[in-house]
Amino acid sequence: MRWVPVTAISQELVRFDMQQMQNPEIRGTEYQQGTLFGFEVREYLLEKWERKCAYCDAENVPLEMEHMHPKARGGSNRVSNLTLACVPCNQRKGTKSLAEFLATDPERVRKILAQAKAPLRDAAAVNSTRWALFQRLKATGLDVEAASGGRTKFNRHQLQVPKDHCLDAACVGQVDALEHWQQPVLSIQATGRGTYQRTRLNQYGFPRGYLLRQKAAKGFQTGDMVKAVVTKGKKTGTYVGRVAVRASGSFNIKTASGLVQGISHRFCTCIQRADGYGYSLTKIALAKGAAHLDEEVLRITPNPEAPRGPRL
Ligand SMILES: [Zn+2]
Repeated sequence: MRWVPVTAISQELVRFDMQQMQNPEIRGTEYQQGTLFGFEVREYLLEKWERKCAYCDAENVPLEMEHMHPKARGGSNRVSNLTLACVPCNQRKGTKSLAEFLATDPERVRKILAQAKAPLRDAAAVNSTRWALFQRLKATGLDVEAASGGRTKFNRHQLQVPKDHCLDAACVGQVDALEHWQQPVLSIQATGRGTYQRTRLNQYGFPRGYLLRQKAAKGFQTGDMVKAVVTKGKKTGTYVGRVAVRASGSFNIKTASGLVQGISHRFCTCIQRADGYGYSLTKIALAKGAAHLDEEVLRITPNPEAPRGPRL
């Protein structure tokens, strides 16, 4: 907040909006694909049916919304009539009823019907960390908007934005328009501040060389970003990258294209001090954008970023 004028915060607090769902087990609200409510329903179903095929328990495969009582036979679009099925199961089931499709497995039919009726006990699907974060954000005194993952996906779809971590962040909450998202994104990665170990080992575990006790030499530190403009000799040229210092003042620079050895400190200027973070501009992959959009609407693919661990 010291460097960027933050005026408000939008947080994805829950996967889906239970208020919007209005207790689908009881009310059985109708869903329509592509609407905000439709996206909330998707997230809800993923949670309710535990991200697997209700018929064969397949996980980590594309899942589709499935009408337990088939639409062709008058089955409704109500959320309570929906489950998740893998593509093969969905195709095989076709317009069969639940009992017909699972004629050889009455136990599973019973289980599915029971699960369909059971209210989602961890309905909020909020994990405690997110709530703790919410409280901390509130404490900043800024406006904090809490939104659902369903809305994030809905926005991404409406705004025709490709799936990307940073763009997802821009799609959280009430978003009417999103501009300039094609611009490169600043990625910040924690790289650490080096190691305390002063002896390097070879592959057999024997000492291979000793590192400096002090990390600085000639005003530079290992890990600093430097620009070296070499004006004479075999290594004439300009190099930008992270420096590894030697007491002699002859440095190595790790550039994007490789390691350049033996550059005198006299040619170097520091661009950025090593602060334990790596900074780079990454381009948004436009290629995977549009094609993925439509597929995403039809299919519910398991979300690998979903937090694991105990759910509340
Ligand atoms: Zn299946």
